[in-house]
Amino acid sequence: MKFILDFLFPPSCPVCKTVGTEDGVLCAKCWAEFNWISDPKCFVCGYPFPANIDLGSRPLCPTCASGKNVVDFMRSSCVYDDASKGVMLPFKHAAALKYRNLMARAMINSLRDLSPKAQCAKGDVPPFDLIMPVPLSYRRLFKRGYNQAALLARPIAKHFAVPMDVDSVRRAHRKDMGHKNAKERRANIRGVFKVRRPDEIKGKTILLVDDVMTTGATFYELRRVLKRAGAKRVYGVVFCRVVRAI
Ligand SMILES: [Zn+2]
Ligand SMILES: [Zn+2]
Repeated sequence: MKFILDFLFPPSCPVCKTVGTEDGVLCAKCWAEFNWISDPKCFVCGYPFPANIDLGSRPLCPTCASGKNVVDFMRSSCVYDDASKGVMLPFKHAAALKYRNLMARAMINSLRDLSPKAQCAKGDVPPFDLIMPVPLSYRRLFKRGYNQAALLARPIAKHFAVPMDVDSVRRAHRKDMGHKNAKERRANIRGVFKVRRPDEIKGKTILLVDDVMTTGATFYELRRVLKRAGAKRVYGVVFCRVVRAI
């Protein structure tokens, strides 16, 4: 069956359509266009440091060193730039599912620092108890028809064999945060999340999933309400993040 499908629809690079060996995997040329985040980086939030400095095995950025990090552990596959936008925006706004595997695979790979078992084979103990896509408001969900974070969270949940929780937290509708700065975003999102089922949250280590992190205000607020509801630890993973000079 696979042979016939490969003949009819040969596996190809989702960006440039060059025929390759596996569907949804970038060709070498497209791969090189992305700014993938690797070491050295902040061990807590994954902020990338210049490649030529040696900061030891678990370096911290100034934000995390001062305890103001947005989540207890955060990873991003790549930097938000023209290459990642070219994948992330069509995925977010038009459900371009051809990019889903590529994004989810890169996100799973970026979690390998979490524990040696993060690359887990079946049967390993996962380093978190449940996976939660960052919720959308009902109004936005209705308008868009899907939550792009949930589309990414599903294959990640499957990889780690961890349940996905889309019901325990609700998000109220607020106007788009568009071009607001970090302080305005944080004020705008304050109080937007409500935990409906605290029993599901209590004592759990939760991995939040989203497509992009800009200022971190959403993660910061979601962690705040989850911790208040008794979550043990709150982690996050995104496909791309905005990297500002610190
Ligand atoms: Zn390509
Ligand atoms: Zn950091």
